Amino acid sequence: MATKRDYYEILGVPKNASEEEIKKAYRKLAMKYHPDRNQGEDKNAEAKFKEAKEAYEMLSDTDKRAAYDQYGHAGVDPNMRGGGPGAEGFGGFAEAFGDIFGDIFGQGRGGAAGAGRGRQVFRGADLSYAMEVTLEEAAEGKEAQIRIPTWDECETCSGSGAKPGTQAKTCTTCQGQGVVQMRQGFFSVQQTCPHCRGTGKIIPEPCTTCHGQGKVRKQKTLEVKIPAGIDDGMRIRSAGNGEPGTNGGPPGDLYIEIRLKKHEIFERDGDDLHCAVPISFPTAALGGEIDVPTLQGKAAIDIPEGTQSGKQFRLRGKGIKGVRSSYPGDLYCHVTVETPVKLTEHQRKLFKELGESLKKGGPKHSPSEGTWADKLRGFFNA
Ligand SMILES: [Zn+2]
Ligand SMILES: [Zn+2]
Repeated sequence: MATKRDYYEILGVPKNASEEEIKKAYRKLAMKYHPDRNQGEDKNAEAKFKEAKEAYEMLSDTDKRAAYDQYGHAGVDPNMRGGGPGAEGFGGFAEAFGDIFGDIFGQGRGGAAGAGRGRQVFRGADLSYAMEVTLEEAAEGKEAQIRIPTWDECETCSGSGAKPGTQAKTCTTCQGQGVVQMRQGFFSVQQTCPHCRGTGKIIPEPCTTCHGQGKVRKQKTLEVKIPAGIDDGMRIRSAGNGEPGTNGGPPGDLYIEIRLKKHEIFERDGDDLHCAVPISFPTAALGGEIDVPTLQGKAAIDIPEGTQSGKQFRLRGKGIKGVRSSYPGDLYCHVTVETPVKLTEHQRKLFKELGESLKKGGPKHSPSEGTWADKLRGFFNA
């Protein structure tokens, strides 16, 4: 087998491309190379389509993309998946196509999955679940349990949808085929039967428990692994945990959307963290060691003599190691010098003395005040 091309190269996107950019790039290639649109024009169209599809599947999945970024093709060999290469038939192909083109081609998607013998097969809808995580959880990763809606076979009617003692009848509009032929100008178009909605059956007396659906809503608990370094707005795909398909169609996927909770001390910016550190007036003037918080515990920083408000101190590697990063970001401590308040008489006296003494020493004690005074003079004399 020839050497595999880089996934980013296949889609023609940069390594830091957003999910949206990746989706766009794939959509473009898929439109160009999809076999239905490319009959015989380009001999390699199908191979190119498959290549683009594989790249998209890998890069659109947060976990797989991270693994690919770290280990290359070895990290995400699609042949390592459960079904093996043989399982990658027309069904999977149609599924991927339905997924991204759903908004263009509408409801008819997934029709090629072929599980229902003549009846219309639909892929289930995708579900999304918003999950709040703390900064600590985002940094460490976590295992979470979530409750998601699912469907169970209705016990009253054993899934038939018909009231016990009655039976579903074959739909007369489509003769149980689930589809009808419609003429549109010169074309004959196959459409989902509007009478039975593609099921091929009509239920004269629906089961009262499930209202003829044959299934009832339940909740199920799902274990989810949140990878370390996850950030606000990222999505994790849990394949097959969306709504079930219709007539044997494949289920949709569940997307877990991460919302990062506000932290009391740290503000996150990508892999870096920022925090404000107030220091006392004497420490700022004389220098000294102070403790600062980090996600891993305390760390000490040396405040040099004469530190001004607004100065930043960077602690390398004390940020967060992002999902796609190979090393952690930094922690920036932003120093604010705190002016003392509620002074006693004695402290007042000391400050006054200090003030006099500083004044005598001239602008060398307050360099920015000096330049500022110069500027003012220039301004008034102009
Ligand atoms: Zn019908
Ligand atoms: Zn029922």
